[in-house]
Amino acid sequence: LEVIAAVEPRIAEATKQELVDQRASLKLIASENYASPAVLLTMGSWLSDKYAEGTVGHRFYAGCQNVDTVESLAAEHARELFGAEYAYVQPHSGIDANLVAFWSILAHRVEGPWLEKFGARGVNDLSEADWESLRAELGNQRLLGMSLDAGGHLTHGFRPNISGKMFHQQQYGTDPETGLLDYDAVRAKAKEFKPLVIVAGYSAYPRRVNFAKMREIADEVGATLMVDMAHFAGLVAGKVFTGEEDPVPHAHIVTTTTHKSLRGPRGGMVLATEEYAPSVDRGCPMVLGGPLSHVMAAKAVALAEARQPAFATYAQNVADNAKSLADGFLSRGAKLVTGGTDNHIVLLDVSSFGLTGRQAESALLDSGVVTNRNSVPADPNGAWYTSGVRLGTPALTTRGFGHDEFDRVAELIVDVLTNTSPGTTSAGAPSKASYAIGDGVAEKTKAAAAEL
Ligand code: PLP
Repeated sequence: LEVIAAVEPRIAEATKQELVDQRASLKLIASENYASPAVLLTMGSWLSDKYAEGTVGHRFYAGCQNVDTVESLAAEHARELFGAEYAYVQPHSGIDANLVAFWSILAHRVEGPWLEKFGARGVNDLSEADWESLRAELGNQRLLGMSLDAGGHLTHGFRPNISGKMFHQQQYGTDPETGLLDYDAVRAKAKEFKPLVIVAGYSAYPRRVNFAKMREIADEVGATLMVDMAHFAGLVAGKVFTGEEDPVPHAHIVTTTTHKSLRGPRGGMVLATEEYAPSVDRGCPMVLGGPLSHVMAAKAVALAEARQPAFATYAQNVADNAKSLADGFLSRGAKLVTGGTDNHIVLLDVSSFGLTGRQAESALLDSGVVTNRNSVPADPNGAWYTSGVRLGTPALTTRGFGHDEFDRVAELIVDVLTNTSPGTTSAGAPSKASYAIGDGVAEKTKAAAAEL
């Protein structure tokens, strides 16, 4: 930090303050974690200075021998850890990984057969008219993904996202009564819509998914099954999710982030079957430019960590702790979407406290508990104010929290929310944003959180 402070002291200060803040609060954001010192240090190196567009052994720049070593090792660890036929470790983020996957599917299933029909070696061989016709065909494909309010991600066909614009899209939700995925409803929708791609996976669904069933549905309609395991990759790596709950043996393509439950650097990754490997391998130039070599190195380190037996224990603790947290809420009368959890996420419906998600999130933040507001299925408060708060156990499990600590966390949260009341607008109408916390509650909670 001294070296940084000599150039821009405000950056050194903000960096230091982030550490202070992360240590002083309870980090319950389900998509966050604490990467190890080895992972963090690996990211801060001169590998950042090297350009390496292309793939291992096939670069558009000279002098990539060390990046080749880094990328090969990261991919090897990923293949071994997840039992995947092929791994592509270049995507800079989860969204990038999904874009690579979408375009790989389009390249494999639409562009490839099209080029074959014309006997062309590549798009550069096509006449202008044929090229326009191919572009129209690529833009005329269908995607079926989980809706945002049921727990899906923006990139799963949400209309304002590029995934909802580059594909004709439809979305599946969850059962309105139980909040659970209804596979028969997904099958019926798939049969009617006949998508090229079915996306499974989630950001805010507190349950496991049966990927064998999702593959069955995909096969019935001739769709490619893509699973976005960004949130639960750590639980797959740690063998908490096995058999039907492990997406890798069932999906054609699996995408992930590396920084959530997997506890690595901020980045993305694509795993694929051999069938899809050649098109995924063309991530650059298809969607990406130069890879972040320093981050690929940190991915290799994190994946090596995840192959240690200690990581499997960690992953099991993440799931066990989520149950403890959920039980802590239920025993105190709070309402959870789907009535509980069997992954790392707990989705608290805060409407029973008379609050919006936004009010609850703010009151908890004032009390040293960092969460994020989240829609619940068919949310009456929409995606901005919401009626839920999403909580996750990966980060605090890394800090060593177990059953008792998570029960205490539930107690603190229920106490804050019980002692928070919704505010009014300046015109005296009920407000979805303002709130008031009972005297001394935030301070008392902060002190209790610091003791954990
Ligand atoms: N996919 C899922 C399921 C996610 O939850 C997220 C992030 O929250 C992403 C993709 C995007 O990851 P990133 O923020 O690294 O682009």
